[in-house]
Amino acid sequence: MPWNRPLIIGLLVVLLALTWWRLQPGDEEIRHSRLIMGTIVEIMAGGQDPDELEDAIDAAFAEIERLDKLLSRHNPGSDVSRLSQSDKGGKVAAETAEVVALGLDVAQQSGGAFDLTLGRLKSLWGFEKETPTVPDQDALSVALAGTGPTALSLDGQQVSKQAPHLQIDLGGIAKGYAVDRAIAVLKLHGVTSAAVNAGGDMYLLGQRPQTPKHPKRFWRIGLQHPRQKDAVLETVQVRDRAVVTSGDYERFFEQEGIRYHHIFDPQNGLPARHCQSVTIIADSVALGDALATAVFVLGPKAGLQLLTQYPQVEGLIVAVDGTLHTSPDWTRYQVTP
Ligand code: AMP
Ligand code: MG
Repeated sequence: MPWNRPLIIGLLVVLLALTWWRLQPGDEEIRHSRLIMGTIVEIMAGGQDPDELEDAIDAAFAEIERLDKLLSRHNPGSDVSRLSQSDKGGKVAAETAEVVALGLDVAQQSGGAFDLTLGRLKSLWGFEKETPTVPDQDALSVALAGTGPTALSLDGQQVSKQAPHLQIDLGGIAKGYAVDRAIAVLKLHGVTSAAVNAGGDMYLLGQRPQTPKHPKRFWRIGLQHPRQKDAVLETVQVRDRAVVTSGDYERFFEQEGIRYHHIFDPQNGLPARHCQSVTIIADSVALGDALATAVFVLGPKAGLQLLTQYPQVEGLIVAVDGTLHTSPDWTRYQVTP
């Protein structure tokens, strides 16, 4: 039978229209944000039915809220508050134990630059207060007494404190862990393309949904310039990776021309002075979060040395003098302008 060209063209048009009709809503990306863990958490997902995406995003936010209740210093019933109030420590949820285990590992690897026992120091500086002030030396010494990489230990889900007054702060790692968990929930809901961002702690899942205009799209992230607001320092291109930035421009105040920010050097209790910002690209956001904070404290030289201990982790450091320092394979992710 000869091909009936008008019929075939007609069928193709109908098929195309049907495919278009089916794909069109799924192609749209849905984006929602909520204020959780003291920051704006943004979740964007796409590539499938919008109702399914809405359910998945709701569940991911619920997971972050659940973890905030466990890990926040500000919730009196949290594991972190219970540990801080206890004399010797106690049993914690499996999730808290996972965060503490990773945090203690980075604390040890970084020679104590990353420290989970800076709760008193954090309260002393009071960045949450309306008018934070620089504490005096005596107060800093009291807040640092007994802190350090061996001040906490973990056995299964049992956390032990070396001294009763030690207060726990998971602020340098908890947001990253929560983003990892949110991504896990999105995946359980069948989501294959998503971005979760908790104030600079990001995970980029899969690729962005394809559109006729953009057939294959990686996630492209513009990294904030630490000294020029609204300027992009560099653009990176990733899929299935965490991109985490710690910077001295996130939370700070100025006194007599000196910038005081929220990432502390555990050696002296003062804001760490070697860097303006650190971006880490890693497999997990929790690890990226802890390493970004640790490298920020260590500075470019010791920081890049620390990263050599972690395969599959790359970093970009903006030193205090504005110079850029990168790990050997950072260029793998760089988008050349
Ligand atoms: P990030 O924005 O991830 O660098 O985390 C900064 C937060 O981590 C601060 O607000 C503190 O709660 C906590 N933090 C500050 N300095 C340190 C440190 N040296 N080690 C671990 N956590 C820290
Ligand atoms: Mg961090």
